[in-house]
Amino acid sequence: MIEAHDTINATALHDKLAPLDDQRYSSETCAQYAGQIARITRLKRERRAIVLAHNYQRPEIFEVADFIGDSFELARKAREVSDAEVIVFCGVHFMAETAKVFNPERSVLLPDLRAGCSLADSVTAEALADRAEELRKVYPDLKIVSYVNCTADVKALSDACCTSANAAKVVNAIDSGNILFVPDQNLASYVQTQTSKRIISWDGNCYVHHQITPEEVERARAAVPGLLVIAHPECRKDVIAMADAVLSTSAMMRYAKESPAEKFLIVTECGLSDRLLLEVPEKHFYKACVLCRYMKMITLDGVADSLEHLRYAIELPAEVREGARRALERMLELGA
Ligand code: SF4
Repeated sequence: MIEAHDTINATALHDKLAPLDDQRYSSETCAQYAGQIARITRLKRERRAIVLAHNYQRPEIFEVADFIGDSFELARKAREVSDAEVIVFCGVHFMAETAKVFNPERSVLLPDLRAGCSLADSVTAEALADRAEELRKVYPDLKIVSYVNCTADVKALSDACCTSANAAKVVNAIDSGNILFVPDQNLASYVQTQTSKRIISWDGNCYVHHQITPEEVERARAAVPGLLVIAHPECRKDVIAMADAVLSTSAMMRYAKESPAEKFLIVTECGLSDRLLLEVPEKHFYKACVLCRYMKMITLDGVADSLEHLRYAIELPAEVREGARRALERMLELGA
């Protein structure tokens, strides 16, 4: 996670972002963004608000974020918030729910309610309860481990949550040999390579990672000799098999900074490649990535309006909040 800048003028913003895409970050656009960033900075002070942002957010959103990270780091950060009255979550709905679970007394805002997730949508609490009941007839010791990319009511039915960074650790530490792993089939298959336990997978996937093919990776490798391939565990099994490292987004950041290698193919959502290009300018990052339309729903305008009008507040029933918190705390305990 990194500390955000307070505010930035149009020229400095243009100098910083134009190397990513000079058409997307023209002088005019950067002047407009600098005005919005100044407005957000003022509103944050007035509202006593902090902004948490996921690694897949737009580069201009990083400029107003107090913390940037992957889901695990953001879950941990949300738990540690002490001096803010309002949390603006720049990410998707299930992530804002997690912030609310840890901060029931604070106002947690998601700037755009359309910021959902295809993976989280692939499992409902009702379907999960039915499947678990059916499986317990065969595996009475069955435990449910849910990847954090799911709704709070699915988390509330789980014995523990996990992230891509600690999934194998959580599965190996939980006291059962039979695990129903929801909702990502690709992460489940990756975890199965790291445990002798029986993993029963849900059949969901992230539409972003699932559409990246081994042919794309092969083409990039053939075009750039010496390229190190870093893939996210939400990728398909045949893509993961080609990777030099399989890492969560924040672990990718650390790996790229610390590795002596100079050239990397980043196989995940494109926002992470943008963040790497900004933070590690001395190395070369090639993209085999797809944009997540949900993550990109969050804009500077949306964040400013969210702070101005205190919208859209995330609310959760107490029993869902408490159940989800138990599963998330278990993750922090088993997967730390
Ligand atoms: S990248 Fe995939 S898992 Fe993440 S929010 Fe988008 S659809 Fe969901």
